Amino acid sequence: MTGPSNLKPKLDCPCGCGTYGMPRRKAWGDGLRHVRLCPCRRCAGSRHRGKANRRENRIAADLGGNREPLSGGLSGADVRAHMWSFEETSNEAVVRGFRRWWTSKTVRSKVARLNARHGEAHALILSWDGRPQAVITAYEDFVGQFPNQTGQAS
Ligand SMILES: [Zn+2]
Ligand SMILES: [Zn+2]
Repeated sequence: MTGPSNLKPKLDCPCGCGTYGMPRRKAWGDGLRHVRLCPCRRCAGSRHRGKANRRENRIAADLGGNREPLSGGLSGADVRAHMWSFEETSNEAVVRGFRRWWTSKTVRSKVARLNARHGEAHALILSWDGRPQAVITAYEDFVGQFPNQTGQAS
């Protein structure tokens, strides 16, 4: 094997997790530099936070809104825009069931028929117990309804 990664020293993570890899660029407060992909709570938490931060920044930019400074912690919302509050999540327990439903053949074919109407935004309205209960729309369709940060109506 060749490549730049071979030139840098890999080591056993000093936290004792047993992961062998490249040390992180920054040390934790105790001065220890855990390695990349260390599964400890601090490392996994900051990896998750980094990705979630990027997604939330993107959503705020797409919608022409703002990230909540506390991002869900105390405010209960990650992003706010145009009098809407948004919670962004990649939590498996929340996403898994919906993903299975949204990508299922039955739903895909319904959405595909709806999407055949070009130049319009599309949403499914789900009703049960005799009344409309929820609106489901693709992220891109939703974003298209808001003026973005540059102030253009889309
Ligand atoms: Zn570790
Ligand atoms: Zn760690």
